[in-house]
Amino acid sequence: MSKTITRHPDDATLISFAAGALSEPLAAAVSAHVSMCAECRDEVRDMALIGSSLLETAPAPGGRVAVPARPEDSIWSEPASSPRRERAGELPSPIARKYGLSLEDIEWKRLGPGLWQHRLPLSPGAKGDLYLLKLTPGCKLPVHGHAGAELTLVLTGAFSDATGEYRRGDVQEVDAGRLVVRR
Ligand code: ZN
Repeated sequence: MSKTITRHPDDATLISFAAGALSEPLAAAVSAHVSMCAECRDEVRDMALIGSSLLETAPAPGGRVAVPARPEDSIWSEPASSPRRERAGELPSPIARKYGLSLEDIEWKRLGPGLWQHRLPLSPGAKGDLYLLKLTPGCKLPVHGHAGAELTLVLTGAFSDATGEYRRGDVQEVDAGRLVVRR
């Protein structure tokens, strides 16, 4: 249940998502979180409505109204009319639908002891990386740099680090090396 989700993307990240302005890997992760989190789903819907009504009242020069890239236009958005209840042990529906994958089908590539990765392909020219990680209990993630924004979403199980514990649906967001804490 979404009530157990306590760590959400930053408001600025949700606004960018609603405006269709996030990079593809970040949009994929936010989209997956939003499919699991009723609270953020409501926020994104409100933000998209506010964005489109502002644009409707401000026609572009020449009388044409600019059409915003709203999340419902994005390959990563859930159809607003058919919200789906996400079930534990399944991939979030935006990821499952885009890649035709289920957790059992994934061909994991072993990266090291207790650590597997599956890279998800992005559109041609898209920047960044999108991958699924699988860790055995007690395994530590190798230390890695954060050059830009990084968003980690827990799909099953939990992990913890110096900043606390993250469970299914929780998001850890790092921007240029700094942890982003919402609320
Ligand atoms: Zn949320």
